[in-house]
Amino acid sequence: MTSQLPWPSWMLIPAAWPACRRLASRCLEIAAGHELPPTLMLVGEAGLGREALAVDLAAGLAVHGGPPAGCNCPGCDRVRRGVHPDVEIVTLEPKKGDGSIDQTREPRRGVHPDVEIVTPETKRSDISIDQTRELIGRLDRRPYEGQRRVVVFSSCQTPPLNTEAATTLLKTLEEPPGHVTFLLLAANPNRVLPTIQSRSVQVRVPLPGHAETAELVAAACGTDPAQSTALLQACHGHPAVALATGDPSLLATAEHLEALLPAALAGDGAALLRTAQLIQRAPEALTLAVATLLREAASAPVEDAERVLAAAAALVAAERRRAALRLDHETAVLGALTPFAAGRL
Ligand SMILES: [Zn+2]
Repeated sequence: MTSQLPWPSWMLIPAAWPACRRLASRCLEIAAGHELPPTLMLVGEAGLGREALAVDLAAGLAVHGGPPAGCNCPGCDRVRRGVHPDVEIVTLEPKKGDGSIDQTREPRRGVHPDVEIVTPETKRSDISIDQTRELIGRLDRRPYEGQRRVVVFSSCQTPPLNTEAATTLLKTLEEPPGHVTFLLLAANPNRVLPTIQSRSVQVRVPLPGHAETAELVAAACGTDPAQSTALLQACHGHPAVALATGDPSLLATAEHLEALLPAALAGDGAALLRTAQLIQRAPEALTLAVATLLREAASAPVEDAERVLAAAAALVAAERRRAALRLDHETAVLGALTPFAAGRL
């Protein structure tokens, strides 16, 4: 059966990672002793374990009121498919009036939820006060069939959790019904309103090891293990870049940039133009271009390193200006790198 979770299935892989499994087991043991705080903030990058941990905890809490983590009974399986009545996931809703969205479909493979789902055409850009009020109105009810009710917020950062919604939620977090556990997801707790922060106990989701990250990139991007490792290297060890695009062609893009950028900085106008066009077609390649230049700078002779670093900085600055001035990527990249290619810097 197709999952109704708002996340692609690869995002649940980290639940099987030893560090995540240990953390889930520990939390569920504490829950069995009735000492788990009612609101946990699961802190970590999207796709790197926080969603998997939330689903695993939700299954244990709702179905068993505690251990085991990673259980495969029919109840826990229903939590993992997003169809258990005692587990609710609050996320960005489809825009009203758009009946064309198939909620049951698996999200596009490999795409970071905060990138793909938050598109103006399909989803609201915030978690609204109405959504939060409706949820809170339901929370007084006892669990339908399990031990507890669990509410997962796919992000408790503001935005997307709008300020009014956060204020409404806060009243419930201050006096939560005894049968409810809240799991709030956040990449950066500094972007969570202090009032929400102060009502939550932060749980840091353990970072994956290299092999685990490669496994995740392979599942998300449909690459084989060797390609995943190469893709991660191309992204300068930032799995979020690979996962955000979910696109194995990013590896080919990275290889092109490795060849094009040194040529462009050496004054090859055609290479410069191709670099700009490549970033125009695939804007995420900008991050790769900066990573490539930083790597080049690290291995360049001292007299060149400064110039290569300055080119990387120019690209970053140009991207900031581009966003503010609404320029296209090609214009911004050409503007940033032309002085270097022309030998003026
Ligand atoms: Zn179970």
